[in-house]
Amino acid sequence: MSGWDEGPVYYSDQAAVLGDGGGDNTNSAAATASRDSVRSLFKEFIRGFKPNNVFRYRESLLQNPRSLQIDMEDLDGFNSDLTAFIRSSPADYLPLFESAAEEVLVSLRSKVPGETGEMEEPDVLPVQILLTSKEDHVSMRYLGAQYISKLVKISGITISASRIKAKSIRLKLVCKNCKNVKEVPCRPGLGGAIIPRSCDHVPQPGEEPCPLDPWIVIPDESKYVDLQTLKLQENPEDVPTGELPRNILLSVDRSLVQSIVPGTRLTVMGIYSTFQPSTSQRGAVAIRQSYIRVVGIEETNEASSRGAGSFTSEEQAETHIKRRMGIGNHISERKLIDELTRRGMNESIVRRALIIMHQRDEIEYKREGRTIFRKA
Ligand SMILES: [Zn+2]
Repeated sequence: MSGWDEGPVYYSDQAAVLGDGGGDNTNSAAATASRDSVRSLFKEFIRGFKPNNVFRYRESLLQNPRSLQIDMEDLDGFNSDLTAFIRSSPADYLPLFESAAEEVLVSLRSKVPGETGEMEEPDVLPVQILLTSKEDHVSMRYLGAQYISKLVKISGITISASRIKAKSIRLKLVCKNCKNVKEVPCRPGLGGAIIPRSCDHVPQPGEEPCPLDPWIVIPDESKYVDLQTLKLQENPEDVPTGELPRNILLSVDRSLVQSIVPGTRLTVMGIYSTFQPSTSQRGAVAIRQSYIRVVGIEETNEASSRGAGSFTSEEQAETHIKRRMGIGNHISERKLIDELTRRGMNESIVRRALIIMHQRDEIEYKREGRTIFRKA
């Protein structure tokens, strides 16, 4: 299954599923007209939502301008249409929400120079909207066609995480014949780009007309975000007796990349999506693999052991690991984790500590990763 996690660039004449008003023809006119008003409502919500006299999202945006975690219940209380839009077409409305957040951030930032007299450059980095909700999760066994492109909440244990990749969000193309330059958006998540098949340059007399598929990608001038894939396995308690646990592919991007290590129990909000694995044969029946494009992650069970931004439990685990295994010694990873969990340590924290030690080159994995050797 190599290549299942690539974001391939392939050719297609499908309508772009991107947030620019295209798509469904029946409501498309109304939808386009209302996009601006929806964006204004999102802005109003971020700027004005004020439970207990605190501008919750405004403050949060100023503290962490890279991402903004939105409580679906808050949004629902503000305007239930907005939550309905996000639930039914998250891929269309989240980009609107993100651009609204960005505009609010710019407006909040530009106040600063006026007040202090100092010229401070307003930061216009994109904001990532993350969602959280108190609703019950859906079992990944029941995810089917009726959930495609919808917002879903599922729960499970991460069993693997890929390395980070650069995923293009806008490709810059140049026509190999006339050197015409064009920018095309890429579908988010594991979707590829939609590259037009022909060049729109009108040949002048004596000029060679541009051939079919003339576009070449200019990698340096295309835009990218970090992307990582994870595999989420059903929680043991959700697996019916006598069945094997199922798993599903997740894609995480931007601020969510590298926030999760294998072994962590998660509750995930995401868009149930499909992509075409690049390994599929030409001419074969188009089988699209489903995955969840994550738009919000919460670690389950660990709220008590992990304070905000505190990594002391990993440090504790590290101390235990070092105490258990002196420099120059081997131990089976399973045995080490079993021993430490018996002492009340959380398995995912122990795993995280091991990853940190491995990154510092203090330990080495041997025998296909089953044995740990402490080097320093
Ligand atoms: Zn051309």
